[in-house]
Amino acid sequence: MTITKQQLDAQPKFNNSTDEDPYTCACCGKVLNTAKAVWLEQSHVTNKFYLKDVVPEQDSQGYFAFGITCAKKVALTVY
Ligand SMILES: [Zn+2]
Repeated sequence: MTITKQQLDAQPKFNNSTDEDPYTCACCGKVLNTAKAVWLEQSHVTNKFYLKDVVPEQDSQGYFAFGITCAKKVALTVY
């Protein structure tokens, strides 16, 4: 299933980065434009990344930032 822009826009937003400490993409390591970063939740059981509310709470490893292109590639919608 293809991830839509609407699904990516609906991901949680985190913005605690600074110019000195910018977020980098968890996939390719590229420095991200924080406003455009997409946050995906990782499962420590599968080590894969998912859209919000897909990973059961006890399996969550937390959220990681991605560029939009990488987020579309790695995000899963079904656990
Ligand atoms: Zn990337």
